[in-house]
Amino acid sequence: MTVAAASLIDWDRIRGDFPLLRREVHGKPLIYLDSANTGQKPECVIAATDDFYRNHNANVSRAVHQLGSEATEAYEGARRKLAAFLSVRADELVLCSGTTFALNLVAYSWALPRLQPGDVILVTRMEHHANIVPWQLVAQRTGATLRVAELRPDGSLDLEALWVAMTPEVKLLAVAHVSNVLGTVNPVAEICREAARRGITTVVDGSQALPHMPVDIPALGCDFYAATGHKLCGPTGTGLLWAKHEHLQAMPPFLGGGEMIKEVRFDGTVFNDPPHKFEAGTPNIAGFVGLGAAVDYLSGIGMAAIHAREADLLAHATGELLKIDGLRIYGTAPEKAAVISFAIEGTHSHDLATLLDLEGVAVRSGQHCAHPLLQWLGVGTTCRASLAFYNTHAEVDAFAAALRKVTRLLA
Ligand code: PMP
Repeated sequence: MTVAAASLIDWDRIRGDFPLLRREVHGKPLIYLDSANTGQKPECVIAATDDFYRNHNANVSRAVHQLGSEATEAYEGARRKLAAFLSVRADELVLCSGTTFALNLVAYSWALPRLQPGDVILVTRMEHHANIVPWQLVAQRTGATLRVAELRPDGSLDLEALWVAMTPEVKLLAVAHVSNVLGTVNPVAEICREAARRGITTVVDGSQALPHMPVDIPALGCDFYAATGHKLCGPTGTGLLWAKHEHLQAMPPFLGGGEMIKEVRFDGTVFNDPPHKFEAGTPNIAGFVGLGAAVDYLSGIGMAAIHAREADLLAHATGELLKIDGLRIYGTAPEKAAVISFAIEGTHSHDLATLLDLEGVAVRSGQHCAHPLLQWLGVGTTCRASLAFYNTHAEVDAFAAALRKVTRLLA
């Protein structure tokens, strides 16, 4: 969808669906620019979670009573909604607490039993710690090593260097779909195609992609896709791992307990079929009911429309910020999601974020769980303004004005 077509949508009405955005902070209207950290929740998500606890609360897959079957249906219904949202099979979707859990599941269940000394895990410079540290832990235990694919100065992946780095020793490539710091959208389909040609298994961290654009996982051609529900207007403690069925069949369980078994005997246990094999214990049932509602809500607006709306806001915000003296944006790749990391000469990002907060503006400051990327950028910390479709052009203007004001105060 084009920006012009998206502008026909009544975004002010949509913004009205988010009760929290009506509050004030320090006596000023809240301008929430931290959606890359966690997204705000529309009324329908809050209502779905509330309704579950008020009217249907029971555990899943264990009780034959009416509430038990309602809870199970609600939970499995959410799985089906998520599967449709991502164009995948429901039995290939493991529901879990978030991207961190999902990536660790691949690390411990897929990589740990397979990797050996001499093997290489390829990661990119722009990964979040959740897509670095699990691979380091696996490398330590298997004798495999980590290799880093570097970036171009604009924060896009250096694809030529990436192809060269894909040597026969590389068994696994872990790559973000969208960078949480730079906003760079990586050409994941092309990367996965090249990796598959070389027999490399691919893990895509989709945390920052799902909230911003339509994602058709099979079209990407990856082996694993991890994402988080709380950035997608859903409750915290929800996330998913999609994997090809043959991987899920072959992988041993990561956690043992109830739900993930068919039969337990002291001389051996028969595991449940995927995806239940990977869902030991009581899941975040109400959370997934909320996430199902979130996916319905986002589909109702349309991810293509959301993508176009955010592109418009990003262009506006970039233009306004670049008018500020001494401000530098980190991450200027041509394909970008609505994430702007910046620093202002002579100021510290924590000071900026603290003073912005007093103006009602919520931005994140720090290293954004991406120390190796910040080291490469050569900047200790940055501020990050991350936009969502529920932000407005007026908020962008107010943010730029607040930034001018606090920069003057710090000068
Ligand atoms: N990867 C990326 C790119 C992220 O932005 C985040 C969240 N900041 C994560 C992984 C981790 O997600 P979670 O904390 O929900 O597990």
